[in-house]
Amino acid sequence: MTAGGTEASCALCGEPATEMVEPPRRTLARGLDPGDASYSVTVILPDIPLCAAHAIDVRHGELVVGWCDDARCRTYGELGEPSSCGGAYEKLARGRRT
Ligand SMILES: [Zn+2]
Ligand SMILES: [Zn+2]
Repeated sequence: MTAGGTEASCALCGEPATEMVEPPRRTLARGLDPGDASYSVTVILPDIPLCAAHAIDVRHGELVVGWCDDARCRTYGELGEPSSCGGAYEKLARGRRT
């Protein structure tokens, strides 16, 4: 479960990643205090590590990568799937359907 080393693993299957794919959005506004709208942090999202097979799936739109912003995760995974904190990976792109 806890993999050692510095190699990135695929966000979707955990296999060693062969490429880094640019996320549909680069930034994510994270408000730390819901009661104070002026206090927010913009998160710069990293590239998405993917294995060769999943990189193709994502490019073709067959799989959508989501992001879990829970402090325990802050990682990519398949959209709508539960992440390790129990929440679901959320959509990154907005209003860009084809
Ligand atoms: Zn994969
Ligand atoms: Zn999570």
